[in-house]
Amino acid sequence: MAILEVDGSLGEGGGQILRSSIALSLVTGTPFRLVNVRAGRKRPGLMRQHLTAVQAAAEVGQAQVTGAEIGSLQLTFHPGTVRSGDYCFSVGTAGSATLVLQTVFPALALATGRSTVTVEGGTHNPMAPPFDFLARAFLPLVDRMGPRSTAVLERPGFYPAGGGRFHVAIEPAAVFGRLDLRERGEIRARRATAVVALLKRSIAERELAQVREHLGWDDSTLRIESVAKAVGPGNVVSVEVESEHVTELFSGFGERGVSAERVGSTVAREAADYLAAGVPVGPHLADQLLLPMALGAGGVFRTQEPSGHTCTHAELLKSFLGSDVRIRKLSELVWEIEVPARA
Ligand code: ATP
Repeated sequence: MAILEVDGSLGEGGGQILRSSIALSLVTGTPFRLVNVRAGRKRPGLMRQHLTAVQAAAEVGQAQVTGAEIGSLQLTFHPGTVRSGDYCFSVGTAGSATLVLQTVFPALALATGRSTVTVEGGTHNPMAPPFDFLARAFLPLVDRMGPRSTAVLERPGFYPAGGGRFHVAIEPAAVFGRLDLRERGEIRARRATAVVALLKRSIAERELAQVREHLGWDDSTLRIESVAKAVGPGNVVSVEVESEHVTELFSGFGERGVSAERVGSTVAREAADYLAAGVPVGPHLADQLLLPMALGAGGVFRTQEPSGHTCTHAELLKSFLGSDVRIRKLSELVWEIEVPARA
């Protein structure tokens, strides 16, 4: 099969192009050469998390790879046969473990047998899907397309110590079925959880106070979780909206130099924007749903203004699959994204 050339400086120019190219390559059997790896980032090239994703995919897909080194700006990936099985991958730093899982997940969700995947690293990282988003928003929606997945967090891992670990069991499907998600439906539950690992409880209280103030949620929806078994300190606050047709989850991460009030109010505003739009799918879920939909029977969903990641994903799907993802603005706050079935 001819090798596909992919330019890593496309759109966002981040790690997503690499991970999604690998995911698409494993499922379609298309080999690719990626140049300008993460050219849009301050420190371009493969970092630890990306390298772990490459190595994980090479193992799952019996692939031949060149350029798999830290700092590498080029990579070639020739996939072999995807094998289901029991896998364990370790990022070795606080790099995102969920992004490693997402790289191999589509291939394992369409494999011939059941798999279990354990990943160690960061489980709650800024700029990546936190474990709870994976378990409560992303995987349940992909399950609706056919596979059955369960995710269990053993312990969280935060930047800079890392050391988190989770397990995902995947019962595959023959194909990803069509997803039609135009309505959110009635809101059934609202939950805001502030997690503090080896940090003061007052941080969580201050964050939740912001959620209460900005969203007007009452105390019965707010919960504090103190984690003692983390390897290092960390803090995450998540705001979850469970509706009839979808669960969405927004996250904010504690950081040195950023007040708990700021962390809490930022995530509350994200959730408020989502609620005001009245759509089922938020910006992060939108970008992550495109890939399984385009690999399967396609579908349609309504969302907020598309992010750079969503537009980049649409371009990448065009070059890998020839898919024309249609993005239409329906009103000031609502967009509709239509993904064609795989040809
Ligand atoms: P880099 O670009 O530095 O390589 P990266 O490897 O983390 O960073 P990105 O290209 O930025 O990769 O992709 C990050 C992914 O994480 C995107 O799919 C984005 O939607 C997702 N993401 C970021 N923040 C959240 C969040 N709070 N909840 C869910 N998903 C998130």
